[in-house]
Amino acid sequence: MAEVTTIIDLAGLSLSHGEGRRLELPVPLEPLELAGQSYGSPEAVPIRLDVSRPSGGFAFRMRFPLRIEGPCMRCLEGAALETEVDAREVAQDDTEDEELLSPYVNDDELDLGRWAHDAAVLAIPTRFLCRTDCAGLCPTCGESLNDANPEDHKHSQAPDPRWAKLSELKLDK
Ligand SMILES: [Zn+2]
Ligand SMILES: [Zn+2]
Repeated sequence: MAEVTTIIDLAGLSLSHGEGRRLELPVPLEPLELAGQSYGSPEAVPIRLDVSRPSGGFAFRMRFPLRIEGPCMRCLEGAALETEVDAREVAQDDTEDEELLSPYVNDDELDLGRWAHDAAVLAIPTRFLCRTDCAGLCPTCGESLNDANPEDHKHSQAPDPRWAKLSELKLDK
């Protein structure tokens, strides 16, 4: 797959100390991967980037709406989530302090595409669910319990992990 890059030339903004600039631009995002799953996002997200120039460096605030689509972590049904990404970075010119050195700034260039991608990954909740009370899959038969009436969905006996393999074989004709 072709690399998606969006680089902002900070020198080209010609900001003096104390000045700021707001940029609005669509930025294509690389596919979001998390725990082996791929989470879709729009081709490009409309990014609002505030660049300011405090003494000795740059400060950035990036905001964009994000719609994430992917499998529910409990029942594997398709799920979608809309969220707002709001992230900040600072990049000081002369410092050894890691906190003040943005990993996305190099030689007066801001790697906005990579920052947006990383911020989008962070915006995916650790529990990505189709709904907050998703009932998940039945541990015995693997059917989604969201569609099943819990009263009807009962197995005659509690699953015994030692027999799980055996019953799989029996079901597998
Ligand atoms: Zn679910
Ligand atoms: Zn079941």
